[in-house]
Amino acid sequence: MTQATNTLTSTFTPTFTKLISKEGGKEYPLKAINICEETFAPLEVAYDYDLIRRLVSRESIQAGPNSIWRYRAFLPVESENPIDVGTGMTPLVKSNRLARRLGLKNLYIKNDAVNMPTLSFKDRVVSVALTRARELGFTTVSCASTGNLANSTAAIAAHAGLDCCVFIPADLEAGKILGTLIYNPTVMAVKGNYDQVNRLCCEVANTHEWGFVNINLRAYYSEGSKTLGFEVAEQLGWKLPDHIVAPLASGSLFTKIHKGFQEFVKVGLVEDKPVRFSGAQAEGCSPIAQAFREGRDFISPVKPNTVAKSIAIGNPADGVYALDIARKTGGNIESVTDKEIIEGIKLLAETEGIFTETAGGTTIAVLKKLVEDKKIDPDETTVVYITGNGLKTQEAVQGYIGEPLLIEPKLDSFERALERSRTLERLEWQQVLV
Ligand SMILES: *Cc1c(COP(=O)(O)O)cnc(C)c1O
Repeated sequence: MTQATNTLTSTFTPTFTKLISKEGGKEYPLKAINICEETFAPLEVAYDYDLIRRLVSRESIQAGPNSIWRYRAFLPVESENPIDVGTGMTPLVKSNRLARRLGLKNLYIKNDAVNMPTLSFKDRVVSVALTRARELGFTTVSCASTGNLANSTAAIAAHAGLDCCVFIPADLEAGKILGTLIYNPTVMAVKGNYDQVNRLCCEVANTHEWGFVNINLRAYYSEGSKTLGFEVAEQLGWKLPDHIVAPLASGSLFTKIHKGFQEFVKVGLVEDKPVRFSGAQAEGCSPIAQAFREGRDFISPVKPNTVAKSIAIGNPADGVYALDIARKTGGNIESVTDKEIIEGIKLLAETEGIFTETAGGTTIAVLKKLVEDKKIDPDETTVVYITGNGLKTQEAVQGYIGEPLLIEPKLDSFERALERSRTLERLEWQQVLV
């Protein structure tokens, strides 16, 4: 892996040119800048696409590393050696049993539950953000996190030898907290929700010269999510799907999958075609879904109350852009209850052998709802994005799954237990049938 990276980067030319405000178009230099000082809008990285077109081909990408860095010409970094911990190139699985259960013929699962190193899609954005942080001279990195981002930032900072201080809401799942502490960063557990954590971090960013991956480095960080679009297009045989379904927290990931597809079209790596974008939220934190349903083009912030903590952002920074993409592509934004989220987790596990966290349960439940409401055509190529791993949110399914059968180390004890469980199964079936 290291060697592949070295040969690739020795001929590398940076392709990113400036930061541009998403409202008003004011331009900024390639520094650590939070938002547009005039309109307070997010900033977007701009590239020289003529240069990218000359630098890359399907073959050059395929000859690159087996990680997100095969797409480095589309990422805002200039280092000889970006931080490559094997992030990306997760499986795109053709669904059989889930597809049949839902009545779909061409369903694919993009499985970032097995992303490296910390089992969520956040490893993509953090690999890019910390590479850029190092380039900009930061020695301490930080983030405001709903859990997975803290895991990624702490792990990849450890790998890169950067000091790390992360901020999380104090009431996160045990697996998310332990999965951060193990890398030995400073962890600030804030008595408040994510939006309060984020507000605090914006204040800290003004007083400390730290690289906050999702605040002053956000423009670079969010570009990492484009690789979720690039990989799917490459894994489908250099084709775009017809429909994607992805979870929405801040809305960033959703908008960047869209940007990724558009960039591949722009440089001629795939043929243009319409792709519908559908988004998933938990009902207990669904400001974007509510705006979609009510036909509004602004977001009214909400106070989160849901089991899906990783996507519980009440005041989503990229909400209006996600809304716009769903509308203009003919997609939908739906929300589901906590009960449906847990059923979604179980459905994916039982049909595909993939154990996802609450965000993935939300996405599967919304996929099911969209099919039932005839908003997904059974024949269209649909990609559902699974963004995190279920072992991190075990509390969510505790009490909703079976229990092991406790037996003596004796054959007859086993036989009796097996008979009992089969009788139970038959009884359950009879209950289903009556
Ligand atoms: C952060 C996160 C998301 C959503 O990310 P945004 O880009 O903020 O919309 C989705 N799934 C998981 C598991 C996450 O951790």
